[in-house]
Amino acid sequence: MDKIQAEKRIMELKAVLWENSRRYYVENAPVISDFEYDHLMKELEALEAEWPEFLTPDSPTQRVGSDITRGFAQFPHKYPMLSLGNTYNISEIEEFADRASRTLGGGFTYCCELKFDGTAICLTYRHGMLYRALTRGDGVVGDDVTVNARQIPSIPQKLSGEGWPEEFEIRGEILMPYEAFDRLNAEREDTGEMPFANPRNAASGSLKLQDPAEVSHRGLICTLYHIPGDGLGAATHDEALRKAASWGLPVSDKRRLCKDIDGIEAFISEWDEARHALPFATDGIVIKINEIASQLALGYTSKFPRWAVAYKFKAEQALTRLLSISYQVGRTGAVTPVANLDPVQLAGTTVMRATLNNEDFIRELDIRIGDMLYVEKGGEIIPKITGVEESARESGTEIPPFPKVCPDCGTPLVKPEGEARWFCPNQDGCPSQIKGKLIHFCGRKAMDILAGDATVDQLFNLGLVRTPADFYDLKKYQLVSLEGWKDRAAERFLESLEASRKVTFDHVLFALGIRYVGETTAREIARHFGTVDAIAAAGKEQLLEVSDVGEVIAESVYQYFRDEEHLRDVERLRAAGLQLEMAAAEEPASDALQGKTIVVSGNFSISREAMKALIERHGGRPGGSVSGRTDYLLAGEKAGPEKLRKAAQLGVQVISEEEFYAMIPSERAQKEEEPVQLTLF
Ligand code: NAD
Repeated sequence: MDKIQAEKRIMELKAVLWENSRRYYVENAPVISDFEYDHLMKELEALEAEWPEFLTPDSPTQRVGSDITRGFAQFPHKYPMLSLGNTYNISEIEEFADRASRTLGGGFTYCCELKFDGTAICLTYRHGMLYRALTRGDGVVGDDVTVNARQIPSIPQKLSGEGWPEEFEIRGEILMPYEAFDRLNAEREDTGEMPFANPRNAASGSLKLQDPAEVSHRGLICTLYHIPGDGLGAATHDEALRKAASWGLPVSDKRRLCKDIDGIEAFISEWDEARHALPFATDGIVIKINEIASQLALGYTSKFPRWAVAYKFKAEQALTRLLSISYQVGRTGAVTPVANLDPVQLAGTTVMRATLNNEDFIRELDIRIGDMLYVEKGGEIIPKITGVEESARESGTEIPPFPKVCPDCGTPLVKPEGEARWFCPNQDGCPSQIKGKLIHFCGRKAMDILAGDATVDQLFNLGLVRTPADFYDLKKYQLVSLEGWKDRAAERFLESLEASRKVTFDHVLFALGIRYVGETTAREIARHFGTVDAIAAAGKEQLLEVSDVGEVIAESVYQYFRDEEHLRDVERLRAAGLQLEMAAAEEPASDALQGKTIVVSGNFSISREAMKALIERHGGRPGGSVSGRTDYLLAGEKAGPEKLRKAAQLGVQVISEEEFYAMIPSERAQKEEEPVQLTLF
């Protein structure tokens, strides 16, 4: 690889890792497995080592991924909350041990612990009482989740025993046990919400709920494993944990002191087996140098302690038989083949189905009914088919032919140019597509109506609901006469319909289910045009002016509003009292940015949308492109080079995220009531 290729690949890897880190930490909805993520990170590390001129401080290899979320106050950590160096290779654990020996020259031991797969928490106790709970945030400041942490029964509000310091921090993990996770996902599927991909995401999403009462129902538990600083006067990590346990803190007892690498390896292989019986997820083993003086001698990098390392368990794999293939028709008409598997245990759950993606995937893997398939759960994400055990194949089998007609309505399928999937073109007549659109309409991020798959199925099959507007014509007497509907269920459903009349226009636009218009695009379009009438009247050129909207989306929105039936649906929703225009902007938080136009580019600790909303809340105007009328270019990580060049050309001042916060009486600036001490240990 030459220098130009290396630079290009480094830029690509950074962009992919940033995007996936945001999906993982902020949205709690990863789309790639941890194994794939870690693999990309290792590739970036290797390239940066070979081409150090391209190593920048903002690289994902140098910083912890940020979970900072809008809607929470942030407070600084007394000691930075870092990540852990990790490996899937025992040989790298041996290298870690060798390095420690070389630096320390012996006289130390290891404390091996489970690596709990949840979301990190930092608890501060003052005078024996729980004072504050912060998430890891960006490692320097964390989100204040104290009210939510108070809902978790295993976190004591008050310490017992004696001898605790006046104030100290203790860190650990908030976990969602499998049982609570399965229950939560079943409920979510019932109400049409997206299930969480894994218990880690569910724990992290639950800890960031805005309603503490809801947190108390999520079945979260806490386990603690680290006391930063030397306030406890303990000589070893293990001693500090024992003290903490004696004060009633939920310290994990699944740890062992080891003298050497043999002991570490034995601990790893025992837990690689035994972890399957645990009621919660672990994704590896953490090996820590036990003596605090040795930890201090080894110190930290900008991202990890040098005195600890994580060994990660490999993605779990199982081999099971393919019983049959079902073909599901989504709301867009895309037909997805789904493998029906002989039920098999994998990473704590029973796997019965897995996606086969599309026809090409089946052909490439040469999958046949009755085959033994490898199923994998990397980082506990939704199961994936990774291969076929051909030696177990029975003779005379063939790749099953992909259906030629829609499995639901019988319409011949089409494969549009450039698409890997087959589609049912009967958009307004295919029951699966209609039901899919109704379920989407009711979803939590859309109209938030209490109706999951089963309810929509029932209402559709009885001919009561065919388009979203039909929901608003339903009467209580009709509902209570249906099978399985009790008085209270009907009332709750009607209440949720009533509440949906107040749902803001951007969500209503998303709920319409226009192809390619996701939540963020809907928000951008709604803000840009303000009303549904303005969107319906817009030409493609005008639609293209909206940031995030390209040719494909513009065409899709344009065509949606050219369809008479869609226009009739929109009119009926208007008559039902839904919000079809943006409400006046909320009360400004300050006028610090009055009259200032600020263009936002790149990645920040909060989403770009949240950043624009913050500008508006302080009287400013977020601009689309840099021009003579722009006052500032607010540039985050990976800010657009074109925008930066234009700003330099026009003499527009470029400001960083920190400089921006200094300009406003921001939530973050006001809340930093404690001095930020970046002392490492
Ligand atoms: P990590 O989860 O690999 O390890 C560090 C964390 O482990 C600590 O912050 C702590 O919260 C936790 N931990 C659990 N038990 C512990 C113990 N006994 N002692 C100390 N710490 C313990 O690191 P991370 O920085 O939180 O996340 C990075 C990892 O997250 C990546 O390696 C990747 O696997 C995953 N990730 C995945 C995606 C994706 O798209 N799939 C995206 C971003 C990150």
